[in-house]
Amino acid sequence: MSSSIVKNAVNQYNLSYMERTLASQTPSRIGKIVTLKGWVTSRRDHGKIMFIDVRDRSGMVQIVATKQLADVRSEYCVEVTGLVKERPPQMVNPKISTGTIEIEAERIQILSAAKELPFPLDTDGKDINEEIRLKYRYLDLRRERLNKNIKLRSKVVDMMRQYLFSQDFTEIETPYLTKSTPEGSRDFLVPSRLQSGNFYALPQSPQQYKQLLMVAGFERYFQIARCFRDEDLRADRGFEHSQLDIEMSFVTREDVMNLIETMVIQIVEAQSGVILKKPFPVFTYAEAMKQYGADKFDMRTNQEKEEHKHAFAWVIDFPFFEKDKTGAWTYTHNPFSDVLEADKEAFQKGQIEGVRTAQYDLVWNGFEAGGGSIRSYQKEILSKVFSILGHSEEQIQSQFGHMLEAFSYGAPPHGGIALGVERFMMCLSGEQSIKEVQAFPQTSSGQTSVMDAPSSVSDEQLKELHISVVSEK
Ligand code: ASP
Repeated sequence: MSSSIVKNAVNQYNLSYMERTLASQTPSRIGKIVTLKGWVTSRRDHGKIMFIDVRDRSGMVQIVATKQLADVRSEYCVEVTGLVKERPPQMVNPKISTGTIEIEAERIQILSAAKELPFPLDTDGKDINEEIRLKYRYLDLRRERLNKNIKLRSKVVDMMRQYLFSQDFTEIETPYLTKSTPEGSRDFLVPSRLQSGNFYALPQSPQQYKQLLMVAGFERYFQIARCFRDEDLRADRGFEHSQLDIEMSFVTREDVMNLIETMVIQIVEAQSGVILKKPFPVFTYAEAMKQYGADKFDMRTNQEKEEHKHAFAWVIDFPFFEKDKTGAWTYTHNPFSDVLEADKEAFQKGQIEGVRTAQYDLVWNGFEAGGGSIRSYQKEILSKVFSILGHSEEQIQSQFGHMLEAFSYGAPPHGGIALGVERFMMCLSGEQSIKEVQAFPQTSSGQTSVMDAPSSVSDEQLKELHISVVSEK
């Protein structure tokens, strides 16, 4: 390598990368010797020479090499040193960003060979058995579609963060080992070693902690929070998911809705997405049921669906309570929500049916993309909600005493929302399943990717946790 090239490299990159050029940088290095590191996407033999497509995190570049240099095969990890040459006009490949050049290889070093792969990577992969894809997820993720999805997710989460920081939010982490609370689903429990017979629960959402952060005076909290729910798995649901979790003090529901709407529009439009209606139409629950027969609905025509347009809507004024299968009252969304101002008097007088919650849901192309509410920060309403839900005074104290206690120290009026990150990415990228936007999702039967869990543990571990397993016959 000539010293001027080395100097340039030192100026542009930090020293440890001095010797490496990324595929995407090669078109600006015509006439120079470069060293690339990456994977062989394909190899095509033409008599004595072969064409090798090498890809790295930045893209792909074509290498021309004589066969004597190295016997490289698909998915080998290689280092290639060679001269960057302009392609003759008729050889330019407009489909790739490095299509104006190719590298004439002088040296190819195999860094690591690859066995024959369990499945091809040059398709979208959707027809391949899910168990196999997830068993070899680290290979599946080399697939262009998945690589793009995962990178887009990172970019979108970054945009969410940047937007919220610009709006004066603080990012705060809340615990994973916490208390079982009623969020509408089954908890994942973690046995305590130190307290025999006691359990932590993994959070179904940071609901209570984020409200406590409002009592603590942070006013604007957010977190990309992992939530755990032991429920039946579906295409748009997994045992664990991430949500953009937000809580704000001194706000109306319109404030929260506007904040989210602005963010969502910015992100979708930054990806060249076309949004059908702006501002997002707002439906009351009653209107949505009348018009669509559901509180999640797709407002797009078939043609608009084909054109990958995006339709958003807000749904508000949900009933707070409904009867469950046993005829007991249960909440429709979130027990920590406030009762709608207009219904408060009736509620205080004991009316349950028809009382509405200060809940709002965001619907995106027929999916519930998120939901939140203005909370009841007055102890009386919260206690009354729990007693309607069938909790005795004692149960309320043991389950939620800490919230009622916290609310007696100058709790600010507050509200929040959560948007599911996987659903967000699924709708944004047009994928049909949240698994396509997660690096290591679980199989439909709840088995983990690559690593085999759930799996048995040693008797010692069980003993330490004071657990004995009763085998089900
Ligand atoms: N905790 C709710 C959820 O996880 C979201 C919210 O009300 O902010 O769905």
